[in-house]
Amino acid sequence: MECIFCNIIERKLPAKVVYEDELVIAFEDIRPQAPVHTLVIPKKHISTILDIKEEDNTLIGHIFQIAKKVAREKGIAERGFRVVMNCNDESGQEVYHIHLHVIGGRRMHWPPG
Ligand code: 5GP
Ligand code: ZN
Repeated sequence: MECIFCNIIERKLPAKVVYEDELVIAFEDIRPQAPVHTLVIPKKHISTILDIKEEDNTLIGHIFQIAKKVAREKGIAERGFRVVMNCNDESGQEVYHIHLHVIGGRRMHWPPG
């Protein structure tokens, strides 16, 4: 199974990595939708939210901690930012390796499109 994000983790594909530890990696989205658009992903391949297991709970908490850290380091934490994880076709999920979008640096709209 070919997974773009597993290839980024394994450095088989290039990416602008902004954070990495043993559990997660964060890198810049290739098609940014805002001045800040960083993806935070677990190194473990999990295809969708529906595939998250109880045993992944700590990992899922951790990706939010790193989303927070990215937002602070990018200077968007206090003014506000959005964290999004799409699930399956109608949400627009394109890459089937779960990822948190950390988006900010401009005013967000609601409801989302
Ligand atoms: P999704 O639609 O699955 O929630 O989000 C996938 C995101 O991954 C999109 O925002 C898209 O721009 C980004 N993306 C897709 N392929 C690549 C890639 O090869 N490198 C990087 N850095 N981002 C990618
Ligand atoms: Zn993967």
